[in-house]
Amino acid sequence: MTCAKRLASLPATTMRFSRMPLGGALAPFIAALALFTSNPAMTATTPTKAAPATGTRTTLSPQAVRPPLQPAAKPLVIAHRGASGYLPEHTLEAKALAYAQGADYLEQDVVISKDGVPVVAHDLTLEDTSNVRDVFPDRARPDGHWYLIDFTWDELRTLTLHERTAEGGTPARAGRFAASGVGFRLHTLDEELAFIRGLNGTLGKRLGREVGVYTEVKSPAWHREQGVDAAPIVLASLARHGYTKATDLAYVQCFDFAELRRIRLALGSELKLIQLIGENSWGEADTDYSYLLTPTGLREVAGVADGIGPWGPQVLTFAPGKAPVPTGLVQAAHAAGLAVHPYTLRADELPPGVADLPALVQALQAAGIDGAFTDFPDQLRAALK
Ligand code: CA
Repeated sequence: MTCAKRLASLPATTMRFSRMPLGGALAPFIAALALFTSNPAMTATTPTKAAPATGTRTTLSPQAVRPPLQPAAKPLVIAHRGASGYLPEHTLEAKALAYAQGADYLEQDVVISKDGVPVVAHDLTLEDTSNVRDVFPDRARPDGHWYLIDFTWDELRTLTLHERTAEGGTPARAGRFAASGVGFRLHTLDEELAFIRGLNGTLGKRLGREVGVYTEVKSPAWHREQGVDAAPIVLASLARHGYTKATDLAYVQCFDFAELRRIRLALGSELKLIQLIGENSWGEADTDYSYLLTPTGLREVAGVADGIGPWGPQVLTFAPGKAPVPTGLVQAAHAAGLAVHPYTLRADELPPGVADLPALVQALQAAGIDGAFTDFPDQLRAALK
């Protein structure tokens, strides 16, 4: 993706779809799809090649194939960046709220600092979620972005966080956390894993359940271009906190299939792995998602991963005035032995033809999903049958 600052603050999907070579009669449908919202806005700041490569079709050794996950009694509630519908994303406050709202797993996105510290942050850049412009006015790169990887952890911890903003400092999403001056801070992956362990020992003990971690290795190819090998840093942090085995309450997720395969085969991780699925037009990684979504591709994913994380319109077809219709992806993934955890359910950004979040949850449950990422863990929990 390009690094145009103007694009950096746009909702990711809007930006992505604006790049698609489609228009005319399809334009309204494309715009409607954008409402469902894709994962994340990191692509605007990712100076990696935009063009997806051809499929990764390596044959896997039989011992690499793992048995499929047992389906959960109810779909898993995965708190997307915490209870980010209510508090600024990836703050410990948002994680605590998500925990209390009944999430099964709390999500961590991880970007690596200049001194190799795994930091919980979604974007590769800092300006849309922190006061970095004020604290370090001279530290932007020539492209106009303040990259997290250019700062040491001691520098990063001096920043304060706020609700995500768009161009001009306006809120990226209307109706979300609007107070200022609270003093939210960045935290490391180790700090969050310790925090969750602490909560499991208090509230978790009272409720008789533990909450797990769901950690994304962000843009491994981009990190490598910057001289940093992100995946081993993330895995080492998880291991320090006891997350090493398939039976541990931990998932590792990545958009980059080559990296996920490396995590399983070369780095030897036994953790549950989720292959995130986007659209090739997003330029999210050097991975051919169209291929991965074929029966052959899904079988190949199943040789490495335990499940897939597609975005909503890959699971359900949405259209104004019509009920969502399953695409068949869940069945195909299940046939390959893969769990399906789509992203991202938002009560304040519903797809076309969907009246409210419970209706969306009902349609996704009817399609057979095994979990879902949401900014509103309480509402997903309440809507699950
Ligand atoms: Ca993520």
